[in-house]
Amino acid sequence: MEVEHTCPECGGNARMEDVKLCIWKAERLIVIEDINALVCDDCVEQYYDSLTRYKIDRLGENGFLKEEARRVLEVPVFSVEDVEHSVKEDAVEETESGKPSWAPVWSELEDEL
Ligand SMILES: [Zn+2]
Repeated sequence: MEVEHTCPECGGNARMEDVKLCIWKAERLIVIEDINALVCDDCVEQYYDSLTRYKIDRLGENGFLKEEARRVLEVPVFSVEDVEHSVKEDAVEETESGKPSWAPVWSELEDEL
């Protein structure tokens, strides 16, 4: 049975989960995995206990040297500039008429893709 947790920020339902942390360091993307975090279902915020926070700090001590990485990922990079602008969908028309319709937060977008 899963232990119930409460989000320290919004008071919503939260659960313990192994997550990855992605950090941009200048032009480099750093990924830290195997992080046991408290993840909130409502605000989608993640929380680390002090030991985990300490370990993340230790990992970053030397500026995340590539030689110290467990492995290296190849990351495909896309740009919205590469999408043709002629698509006539509701969202595009609304934005072009000067009334932007804001996209959902990333977590929702991620579920749709
Ligand atoms: Zn929350």
